[in-house]
Amino acid sequence: MNNTTVLIIGAGPVGLTLACEMVRRNIPCRIIERSAAPQIGSRAKALQPRSLEIFDNLGIADKLMQQGYTELPYRKYNGPEMIGESPRKHFLRNDTRFPKVLLLPQYQVEAALRDKFEELGGKIEWGTELADFNQTDNGIVCQLQTPNWTEDVNCTYLVACDGGKSTTRKKLGIAFIGETHQEEQLWVGDVEVEGLKPDAWYNWLSAEYGLAFALFPFKNSNNWQLQAAMPADAQGKIPTPTLEGFNQLFKERTQIQNVSFTNSTWQSIYRVNVRRTEKYRVGNAFICGDACHVHSIAGGMGMNTGIQDAYNLGWKLAAVINGNAKDELLDTYAEERIPIADWLLKAASERQKAMIAAATAGKGAFETLATNDGTQLDLNYRDSSLGINNPHPQTELRAGDRAPNVQLANGSWISEQLQGAGWDLLLFGDADIPAAGSLNVIKVKDNAIVDAYKISSGVVLIRPDGHIALIADEVTAVAAYFDKLVGYKGIE
Ligand SMILES: Cc1cc2nc3c(=O)[nH]c(=O)nc-3n(C[C@H](O)[C@H](O)[C@H](O)COP(=O)(O)OP(=O)(O)OC[C@H]3O[C@@H](n4cnc5c(N)ncnc54)[C@H](O)[C@@H]3O)c2cc1C
Repeated sequence: MNNTTVLIIGAGPVGLTLACEMVRRNIPCRIIERSAAPQIGSRAKALQPRSLEIFDNLGIADKLMQQGYTELPYRKYNGPEMIGESPRKHFLRNDTRFPKVLLLPQYQVEAALRDKFEELGGKIEWGTELADFNQTDNGIVCQLQTPNWTEDVNCTYLVACDGGKSTTRKKLGIAFIGETHQEEQLWVGDVEVEGLKPDAWYNWLSAEYGLAFALFPFKNSNNWQLQAAMPADAQGKIPTPTLEGFNQLFKERTQIQNVSFTNSTWQSIYRVNVRRTEKYRVGNAFICGDACHVHSIAGGMGMNTGIQDAYNLGWKLAAVINGNAKDELLDTYAEERIPIADWLLKAASERQKAMIAAATAGKGAFETLATNDGTQLDLNYRDSSLGINNPHPQTELRAGDRAPNVQLANGSWISEQLQGAGWDLLLFGDADIPAAGSLNVIKVKDNAIVDAYKISSGVVLIRPDGHIALIADEVTAVAAYFDKLVGYKGIE
């Protein structure tokens, strides 16, 4: 039987992020994808600042920044009449290189991740489905199915990144708790648009439908995403979307005759589900992304949260596989990410309600969704057992917080000095460490860092996912941290 260490199910944005995390740490892994080729639908069209930081660490953020918009205004209509336009809302801050949401289709995000994965030596196995699996004492025996053959593979860890309809989740017997909102359904699709300038997000508001129609252009592309609220019948059904249907509905709801759609590459129905799995781990099988949480698309956070799940799990799997940490480290994946999913489900539902209320009242739509917490930069793991959360007298930063990025006097960013995939230690004042093992040690000399961290002496230990593990006065606390909390052999 063939063997691998990590088998990743699904080459969506979440599986691909995890695959990059594995391969760049030299962890043997395979990633299988049921579809024969990449997905074509635009689906997620917002990369949030925290995801951009993660992609910066993977080396793909600058390329993606070239491919998307950050400034498209919100243009509102009531039928044929334009009733207003507001600029894109930003939550500018100086502790990140990426304060603005990047607007681009999900297929471009996936393409950048695939390119990175392949550059790192990985290979996606297309047309390959996880048909069945069984956990044994010696690993997980998986049956892979392609159109032409079946293959048995023994893996040490299996990670289900197989989307909202995850069959792996079902096979693991994990309940997906929550609700389906039959009344909240949309037609979604991709079209080329004749008759409109691609310089805004267009929203048609209506008392009857809320969001009667919406169109979103993409940069350097003729493709636009389309969304329209569709009332369901008594059985909870809505008609199947088609290009003809898109054209007809647009004319009916907007009374605009000189705009038309052609070349639709994707048509789909989106139904709001608000659900999360009761757990994220069964034995050596884990679950990530839409497979463990689904919610309204309002606020654009589903793909982003999944990417951040994978980023949390990736370094932990690598540390345990490399013998640098105890298996218990893997339990902190669920401990840290389930509270984030709970916040996400609540926040997305609240945003959905607020948007529909504003649209129904003719006040606006997508601009109501832009909120500071949507940047995901302030999500933290303060309550995690992986942090030593002693309040520090000098700073408001705490263990579990995202380590702030800082621009230095010479214009570079501290993120450029941090390790791509390992632990970093910032030494402030006279703090010193005799033997640092694989830790990347930065002796802080630039006042900009002191000002940003508000620490003049002591140490800050930063985890491989960019969150603070420890803030302490004495460097001895670092070895104690590794001994007690991770069993990590990062320093000798
Ligand atoms: C209209 C729309 C707009 C959206 N807007 C946003 C947004 O602005 N921001 C945002 O963050 N999110 C948004 N989302 C949500 C986003 O698309 C999802 O959260 C994201 O796709 C989840 O990624 P994933 O990798 O978890 O799952 P998926 O993208 O669903 O990928 C799962 C993959 O697993 C494969 N697979 C399934 N079963 C198997 C199997 N047994 N074996 C092998 N492969 C398998 C599937 O073929 C698929 O390719 C939007 C979604 C829609 C529909």
